[in-house]
Amino acid sequence: MKSATPLFESKLPKVATTIFTVMSQLAAECKAINLSQGYPDFDGPSELLDRVAWHIGQGHNQYAPMPGLPALRDQVAAKCARIYDIATDAETEITVVPGATEAIFCAIMATVSKGDEVIVFDPCYDCYAPAVELARGRTIHVPMRVPGFSIDWDAARAAVNANTRMIIINSPHNPTGSTLLADDLAQLADLVRDTGIIILSDEVYEHLVFDGRSHHSVLQHPELRARAFAVFSFGKTYHVTGWKTGYCIAPLLLTKELRKVHQFVTFVAVTPLQYALADFMAAYPGFPDTLADFYQEKRDLFCAGLKSSRFSYTPSAGTYFQLLEYSAVSDMNDYELARKLTKQHGVAAIPISVFCEEPGDTQYLRLCFAKHGDTLLEATRRLCKI
Ligand code: PMP
Ligand code: GLN
Repeated sequence: MKSATPLFESKLPKVATTIFTVMSQLAAECKAINLSQGYPDFDGPSELLDRVAWHIGQGHNQYAPMPGLPALRDQVAAKCARIYDIATDAETEITVVPGATEAIFCAIMATVSKGDEVIVFDPCYDCYAPAVELARGRTIHVPMRVPGFSIDWDAARAAVNANTRMIIINSPHNPTGSTLLADDLAQLADLVRDTGIIILSDEVYEHLVFDGRSHHSVLQHPELRARAFAVFSFGKTYHVTGWKTGYCIAPLLLTKELRKVHQFVTFVAVTPLQYALADFMAAYPGFPDTLADFYQEKRDLFCAGLKSSRFSYTPSAGTYFQLLEYSAVSDMNDYELARKLTKQHGVAAIPISVFCEEPGDTQYLRLCFAKHGDTLLEATRRLCKI
């Protein structure tokens, strides 16, 4: 019998369901403590949550303007002035989006064409490469230095060629918790000077930097800012990841192209959420300043609880993730160990190899410490028994 003609060829033949979904599902099935997918197990501030219901009651339930509610864009501009000491034009440079993921997708779709190369640093967050592939570009994976997970700028320089269209950076870094220094941005600026390379800077954990460190935003570097999409997420800042609301700051020409795609991917972000965020930011402009101490305390609690375990670790510099090195615990690969920990020990984690083109021989798991203290302590008790 003649075989049926396939209806279509997958555009993403190697892409499977994300590790976050896989591990969260397994955690739920096993009733394990879920330190895999990154989200808080506590709510955002009630003053923020209450405003959503209030605005729904006020009839703010229809489409917002495509680039975002003006009041929210004004708050973002005010925040950038306060925190980064920069002026941004809310009209032409700030776009509110339904999640940083959407902005990343739109930025890539808007600027990467067939045959273009996009440099990422492994381990890298999972939504970048599939977007590049859909744009018919090529992702070039440059491994970060191990341990420490800093960028090897010589390797980055060697990867740049006439086809390089974009370089994606992410600081504070998911999954490793490392942060870029001012010198890293200087190296990046050297690398792209006199080229047409665009920077996509994923800064969703901008406020989660510990031990007195500062976050270095591309927005503060005039040369980089002139060629960058900088992407942020209200979900991380206000403990509301499920709201999937964020924003992108980019110069006028890049913003114009981003919006051309954004208006046909989702058109707008959710209206009452934007109203609530604008109100909360106006009433509590200093809220983001509390996050570093808040999460550092959780990181320290988690790390202190692991002192007598056989895992080794360097406390994260940023994000709400902690890497654990497990070579003294097991010689299994990280994916198998993550499954075993979930099923047999009741703690779910994320294997790091899934964020790498070449898994290498390092043995790390990522655990999320955006959890209540009791949850973290119980998780460390279980991990110490292994
Ligand atoms: N980038 C990184 C590095 C992230 O960890 C996340 C978290 N989900 C995102 C982007 C996406 O953020 P959002 O949920 O706002 O789409
Ligand atoms: N950013 C979250 C993490 O790193 C996951 C978001 C998602 O599930 N797509 O865990």
